[in-house]
Amino acid sequence: MKFATRTIHAGQPSEPETGAIVAPIFQTSTYEQEAPGQDKGFSYSRTNNPTRQRLETVLAELEGVPFAAAFASGLAAENAVLQAYLRAGDEIIIPLDVYGGTYRILNRVYQNFGIVTKQIDTSDVKAVEAALSPKTRLVWIESPTNPRLLITDIAAVAALARDCGALTVVDNTFLSPAWQLPLTLGADLVVHSTTKYLNGHSDVVGGAVVAREARLHEELLWWANCLGLTGAPFDSFLTLRGLRTLHARLEHHARNAHALAHWLEGQPNVTRVWYPGLRSHPGHELARRQQRAFGAVVTLELEGGHDAVREFVADLECFSLAESLGGVESLVAHPATMTHAAMEPAARARAGLTDGLIRLSIGIEALEDLRADLARALSRAASVRPARRLRQAAAAG
Ligand code: PLP
Repeated sequence: MKFATRTIHAGQPSEPETGAIVAPIFQTSTYEQEAPGQDKGFSYSRTNNPTRQRLETVLAELEGVPFAAAFASGLAAENAVLQAYLRAGDEIIIPLDVYGGTYRILNRVYQNFGIVTKQIDTSDVKAVEAALSPKTRLVWIESPTNPRLLITDIAAVAALARDCGALTVVDNTFLSPAWQLPLTLGADLVVHSTTKYLNGHSDVVGGAVVAREARLHEELLWWANCLGLTGAPFDSFLTLRGLRTLHARLEHHARNAHALAHWLEGQPNVTRVWYPGLRSHPGHELARRQQRAFGAVVTLELEGGHDAVREFVADLECFSLAESLGGVESLVAHPATMTHAAMEPAARARAGLTDGLIRLSIGIEALEDLRADLARALSRAASVRPARRLRQAAAAG
């Protein structure tokens, strides 16, 4: 079956007892047992729950393997992977502009347990090769990265990692299985913040890990139960509902993003647009080969730094100033003060996260409305520079 059909039918049969097209939510914490230690496959909802299990089946099916685990958040999913595979003295390689929460958990929590984090530009395969050592246990890829959308050659990095005995993990949040299948490229584990495109309606926080092998999956389920990281039944139900429209939503997201990225590139006070669908993007050719679409996040560098950003976001009508991405509504974020505020200024500078950088999550509204909203915001932002120059001149006497 085609992907569009699988998002609707895979793992979501009608409910056997009543024929309900949409299965009910198993909103229960526990299950009656027939005799001590003799249950019907479910004993306690932290460990297992039929609604969550349905979600896991669908997620695994969409990534093309039988093994997935659903979590209470993307970070809970990440935490399960880190707990399961890292021990004191191990090393993990992460990208320069990795999601701020991933950076924080490694540098504020795992560092205290003797885990060494090496932060490099993973889009440079030679840099990955140089950073790998016999102590490397995990190579963590975000492709595209957040927020500059740098592209890493997943197959090349996964091959290098395997030769070193390390596992490759791909955070596939920005693309979803509709647009990228890292396991087919050699990755061992795929992490998702299902909060984003997979649910797609900004009403759930959730996460998932999809594993290439049964052994990795069993370990993750054990850690998820042990640490209490698993997702709630109602959230699983909502995510299942969102998944049914994944294909249709993403087509619309990508069309809007592509058109706006091209248009933004021609605007006078935009000094740079980061979008893998643009020829000017350093990862354009690789993204063409590796992904089915270029995604729907567009990052731009605005002339005028922080002051211009403040003007840009002040009065937007279609774009809400908010963290997150991947919902049907358009969002705007300022990574330096929002998603990546947990990074120290020096780490932000290394990752190219300047004060003028703005991340747009392009929604599925009418393209004309989004373009008009951005045009008004850009013209407000353009007024900042002369005004500031006048203030500086007045101050200088
Ligand atoms: N990975 C990426 C790429 C993200 O952007 C985020 C959140 O923004 C996460 C992981 C964490 O997911 P959650 O917010 O669901 O915990």
